[in-house]
Amino acid sequence: MGMRALKRRPTGFFARADLPTRGASIPTPSSAVREDIAIRDRRVADRVQKFPESVIREMTRIAALHGAVNLAQGYPDFEPPQELTEAAKRALDGGYNQYSITWGARELRDAIARRAKAFNGIDADPESNLVVTCGSTEAMMAAMLSLINEGDEAVIFEPFYENYGPDAIVSGARPRYVRMAWPDWTVDEESLKAAFTDRTKVLILNTPNNPTGKVFARDELRTIADLCTDHDVVAVTDEIYEHIVFDGARHVSLATIGDMADRTITINGLSKTYSATGWRVGWAIAPKTLANAMRRTHDFLTVGAPHPLQIAAVAALSLPESYYAELARSYQAKRDVFVRGLRDAGLDCRPPGGAYYVMAEFDRFPFDDDWAFAMYLVERLRVAVVPGSSFYGDPVEGRRYVRFMFSKRDETLREAISRLADLRDVP
Ligand code: GLN
Repeated sequence: MGMRALKRRPTGFFARADLPTRGASIPTPSSAVREDIAIRDRRVADRVQKFPESVIREMTRIAALHGAVNLAQGYPDFEPPQELTEAAKRALDGGYNQYSITWGARELRDAIARRAKAFNGIDADPESNLVVTCGSTEAMMAAMLSLINEGDEAVIFEPFYENYGPDAIVSGARPRYVRMAWPDWTVDEESLKAAFTDRTKVLILNTPNNPTGKVFARDELRTIADLCTDHDVVAVTDEIYEHIVFDGARHVSLATIGDMADRTITINGLSKTYSATGWRVGWAIAPKTLANAMRRTHDFLTVGAPHPLQIAAVAALSLPESYYAELARSYQAKRDVFVRGLRDAGLDCRPPGGAYYVMAEFDRFPFDDDWAFAMYLVERLRVAVVPGSSFYGDPVEGRRYVRFMFSKRDETLREAISRLADLRDVP
């Protein structure tokens, strides 16, 4: 019996990019309005007509409507370490309620620089290489706005974290996708080389990777570094999951390879390492001129991240090494239980090497596509996930997958797994 789509909607960036648009002789991804998501009001700028609302965040709202366990948007259902919340309360009481310096409170920049040296091996001068932002989301957008001229190309590994689509569109970048191939998310070196052209301006890397869980190996990073150097490309690397790596692996920052420190913007933040996604404190480490450019963009986007929370972030960055070991251990245990549960439920997936997501293939079940399956899960089994198409330039490429995330208490994961067991009733 074929299971019909309960709700279908197109996702994916540039899905309809090849539709001819008025006045455009050669429609391109960066110029075509997506008819399927158009806001029908002529006052709205073209750029906003090219990407939908975030599917990840939309699924969180749909989860609430159905009382579903939310394994869609990646955030914990547990609290940050008490050291953070105590420090935030002290900061609120203690004179940090006005703007900080736009690119970040000095205390925090000092703490970030210390940590970057100790953990990542990156030398960062707090005075010239650091920009504190409203989450790594702003850091990424500010980086792109500071680097891209209309039509410049951005190499992006696919599947990619949803935000990079709108980041490219708003900044005017033309994406060149390089596939990470199911099921092990390997990258074909020839495809990577072929993605670099004389228009390539940036490469966006996310390791450990959302949504695949891939942790880029040192030799892959070396290849990426060589290509960036050969083509004079800036790497913008989102390393927000750097402490969530499994099986004894160790995170490697691209900026530490070869001369990449001169051409890498390393983005990070409090959200994932300290379970404080709502604080919106992130940062970028960049060569002096690029940091300078980002400071200008950042200043006029947001002026600054919340000052008291920046001060509290110093307490986060001062936690002992044992905190990070325990974080990785705890997530690895969750991964093991969760992946087993998904497989027992009939889904195909590999244990991720890092981050807290699992892309799963549902071929065994008779659903038309990822949206049909995701809507079945949220409406009938009350487990919310993200349709795989959200992570691909062409939604068709993601139609066999959904993304689960496991940054949840053990009892929440157990409840989700027990609900998913009802998939056995699907013929
Ligand atoms: N990074 C998380 C995810 O992929 C949350 C993103 C967000 O909503 N800012 O789900």
